[in-house]
Amino acid sequence: MMTADAAGPDEAGFAGLGLRPELLEALTGLGYEEPTPIQREAIPPLLERHDVLGQAATGTGKTAAFALPLLHQFSRSADGSGSGPAALVLVPTRELAEQVSQAVDSYGRGLGVRVLPVYGGTPIGRQVQVLRRGVDIVVGTPGRVLDHLGRETIDLSAVRTVVLDEADEMLDMGFAEDIEAILDETPAERQTVLFSATMPPRIDAIARKHLREPVRIQTGRPQLDPGELPKVKQSAYLVARAHKPAALGRILDIEAPTAAIVFCRTREEVDELTEVLNGRGYRAEALHGGLSQDQRDRVMGRLRAGTTQLLVATDVAARGLDIEQLTHVVNYNVPSAPEAYVHRIGRVGRAGRQGAAITLAEPREQRMLTTIERLTRQPIAIEDVPSVAELRARRLARTREAIEHTLAGDVTDLDRFRGVLAELTAARDIEEVALAAIKMLHEASGGDGDDTEIPPVARTARDRTRERPGRDFGGRDSRGGRDDRGRPARGRPANAGSARLFLGIGRRAGLRPQDMVGAIAGESGLNARDIGAIEIQDRFSLVEVPERDADMVIAALRGATIRGRKATVRRERPYN
Ligand code: AMP
Repeated sequence: MMTADAAGPDEAGFAGLGLRPELLEALTGLGYEEPTPIQREAIPPLLERHDVLGQAATGTGKTAAFALPLLHQFSRSADGSGSGPAALVLVPTRELAEQVSQAVDSYGRGLGVRVLPVYGGTPIGRQVQVLRRGVDIVVGTPGRVLDHLGRETIDLSAVRTVVLDEADEMLDMGFAEDIEAILDETPAERQTVLFSATMPPRIDAIARKHLREPVRIQTGRPQLDPGELPKVKQSAYLVARAHKPAALGRILDIEAPTAAIVFCRTREEVDELTEVLNGRGYRAEALHGGLSQDQRDRVMGRLRAGTTQLLVATDVAARGLDIEQLTHVVNYNVPSAPEAYVHRIGRVGRAGRQGAAITLAEPREQRMLTTIERLTRQPIAIEDVPSVAELRARRLARTREAIEHTLAGDVTDLDRFRGVLAELTAARDIEEVALAAIKMLHEASGGDGDDTEIPPVARTARDRTRERPGRDFGGRDSRGGRDDRGRPARGRPANAGSARLFLGIGRRAGLRPQDMVGAIAGESGLNARDIGAIEIQDRFSLVEVPERDADMVIAALRGATIRGRKATVRRERPYN
C-alpha cells in the first residue's frame, strides 16, 4: 500500500513555510522533498526576524534552516555594493566555511547572491579583492574575520543577521574572545542566530548576552516508547563522504541482503546511488517523489517478485510502504531526526523476522548517532568498513557456498557435463580443471572487484572511552585556550594513549593554537575535543593527538596548507 503523497515543495513542504519562489525552485532542483524538523521549526521565527537559539547537530539540516531565511530576506540595494555584507555566518573550521558557503550559494543561485567563504590558511589578498567588489553574505572562521576587521578590509556595519554555527565547537577551539570582538563590530539591532550541538553553560552565557528573547528550538527529544522499537541489529560505519558509494557497495557485498531499502536525503542522491549500485551488479531501483503512482507500483511489484533487490528511496517516497520481505534498512546518511531513524528501521524485523539496520555516517555526524542511541536506548555498534581482504574472503566463501549448494542439489543434473570433464582431464590433472572452473564462477559472480582500501576515519570519544587519556589530556584553560599545564614537555613521552606530532611551522608564520586545531579538525575530521596539548615554538610546533588517530591526522595534514604554507608533519622524534 502506498499513500499518494506530495512530490515537491507544497503546503506541507517548503512552500508552506512561505519561502519565496526562487528558493523553492532551487530546493526542487536540489531534490529536497520536504523540510527536516529543525527547518520546520526554525524557519518561521527566523523569517519574522526573531533571534533563535537552536540545539542541532550536523546532519539535521541546520544549514538550510538558517540559510533559507537569510536568503528569503535578501534584496540587492540599488547600487549593489559598497555597504558591506548583510549577513555574517561564523563557523569553527575552514571545511565548514566552504561547506556552508557552497550550500548558501546553491540555495541562493536564483537570487544572484554573492557569498564569500573567509578562512585562514589561504592568501588574504584575494579575499580582500572580492570583499572590495561587494559581497552579500560572508561565511568565515572567527580568526580570519577578525583579521579582516583589523585591516579594515571588511565592514560589518550593514550586517542585519549574524549566525553563530556550531558555537560549542568555536568555543572549544578558543574563539570566544574573537567572537565577542566581531559581534561588537556589528549593529546592536541585528538578528542573532546561534546553533550548537550541545548547550553547556558557556553557550547559555553567550546566548544571554548577545541574543534578544530568542526562540529556543531543540530537536531530537521525541517521546519514544522503548516497547515500540523493533528488535533489529543496528550498526553504523564511519566513512568520509568521498568513499561512501564504495563503502556502501562493500557493506552490501558482505551483508548480502535479500531485499533492502537504502534511504537517501534527496532525489539527486537517489538517482546517483541507484546508478552506482547497478554498475556494481546489484538490481537497484530508484523510488522518489518524482515518480508517478504507476511507476512506483511497478517498482514495488518488481521488489516483491524478487527481480529487484535494492530500493533506493527518499523518506517521502517510502512513506506508507509496507514491504514484507525486507531484510535490511540502510541509511545512506544519518537521518535528520531520531524520529526518522526509528520510523525507517521499523520497516524491518517485523513479526519476529530478523532484520538489520545499517547507517553510514560521516565523521561530523557521529554526534547525531549518539543522540539517537540515547533516545532509543538501544546500542548502535560502530563497525569498520570491510577491508579488501575481508571482502575477498567473503566473496570466496560465497563462491564455495554456491558450489556446495549445487552439490547438495540434484547431482544427476551434472551428468551432462561428464563428457567435458573427461576430455579436460585426459591430459590434465583434475584438480587444475576444478580450480579453473572455480575461478570462472568466481569471476562471473563479481570476482574480487575493487581493491583500494577505504581509509578509516577518526572516532569520537564515545567509541574509545577506555583509551581516552582523561581530563588533563587537553589542558585547556577556562577561556578555551591552552594553559601551561597543557604544554607537551618536549623530550618527555606523550600522555598515555596519545601521540605527539611535529609540524614544521611555528610562531614566525603567525601560527596560533586555534589555527592548529582548525587545520587538524578541518582536514582530518578529528573532533576538536580530542586534540591535546599544543606547543608553539618559533619555527615548529608540537601537538598531541590520540595515538590511534595519529597516522590518519598526519596523512590528512600532508597535503594541507596551514596559514598559507605547506608544513612538514610527522611523529615527534625523541631528540627534537
Ligand atoms: P546539515 O545538517 O546542515 O549539515 O545538512 C545535512 C545534509 O542534509 C546536507 O547534505 C544537506 O544538503 C541535506 N539537507 C538539508 N535539508 C534537507 C532537506 N530538507 N531534504 C533533503 N536533504 C536536506
